[in-house]
Amino acid sequence: MSEGSTSETKSKAKAILTDTTKCIGCERCVQGCVKKNQLPADLPAHFKADDGLSSVRYTSSVEIDGRQEETSRFVRRQCMHCVDPTCAAACLVGALSKREDGSVRYISSKCIGCRYCMLACPFSIPRYEYDEILPYIRKCKMDETCRVEGGQPACTAACPTGATLFGLREELIAEAKRRIAERPELYVDHIWGEHEFGGTSVIYISDTPLHDVLHIPTPEELARRGVGRLTHESVPHMMHGWVMVTPFQFLGGLAVLGGIAFLRRRSKVMAEQAAASERAHESASSAAKGERAP
Ligand code: SF4
Ligand code: SF4
Ligand code: SF4
Repeated sequence: MSEGSTSETKSKAKAILTDTTKCIGCERCVQGCVKKNQLPADLPAHFKADDGLSSVRYTSSVEIDGRQEETSRFVRRQCMHCVDPTCAAACLVGALSKREDGSVRYISSKCIGCRYCMLACPFSIPRYEYDEILPYIRKCKMDETCRVEGGQPACTAACPTGATLFGLREELIAEAKRRIAERPELYVDHIWGEHEFGGTSVIYISDTPLHDVLHIPTPEELARRGVGRLTHESVPHMMHGWVMVTPFQFLGGLAVLGGIAFLRRRSKVMAEQAAASERAHESASSAAKGERAP
């Protein structure tokens, strides 16, 4: 459900680049988001998942093991604003859509509360207001409603170390490549979100692998499951192929089932014929024995 997919549109798409080597885990990004979006006090721990996101926290900071022993890294979590979002493809009423500015927007007035988007999201992002009488989906917005002076989202504007940056997606990918090339001894040679699931508008570079924390299968896991191309294709794109092939699979399935039914019926008829012939043979033998009896 994209609002535009020309190359001109793509070039205007904004993104967030987070460099975990610069993050100190101060959570000013979280506080900036809370303030700008006027979010209430956080939910009790038992209402929240391990990643710290909730219906009242659109971003969080997750601590993971660092490269050296007994060191940590902090990783921002938020909606990845996928280039081809699965949540939007799964939504029956068009409550989620990809916009020209790169954000994936949720319109609560269209939402029917089916929560298909929650099931569909490969990054486990959307949250539901379970504690509300009229619940809605909540997630990071990255649109004009959370921008502050200077045009940045409140979260990136609040970061004191420049660990999380806002800008054009193409320029941020170029910046990520430049940093990795400049310090190959520091960074893992990978930009998380450049290609995964068709690419995202929230991307990461790091000195520590981020597959687990971002819910992205590693190449080894994909190879083990025999789905090597999975993370380079968006889920809606893969599903399109599946939907197109399904009628033929359905007809093929019917043909196979029909064949099995025919063979079973044929075996049954042959068994019945054999039994009838056996019975006829037995009664003919009995009759012959009776004729010969004195
Ligand atoms: S991360 Fe999930 S909720 Fe966000 S745009 Fe992608 S599919 Fe939708
Ligand atoms: S982009 Fe907006 S909604 Fe998302 S974390 Fe930043 S301030 Fe919050
Ligand atoms: S404000 Fe910047 S340094 Fe602080 S937790 Fe967020 S990304 Fe990390």
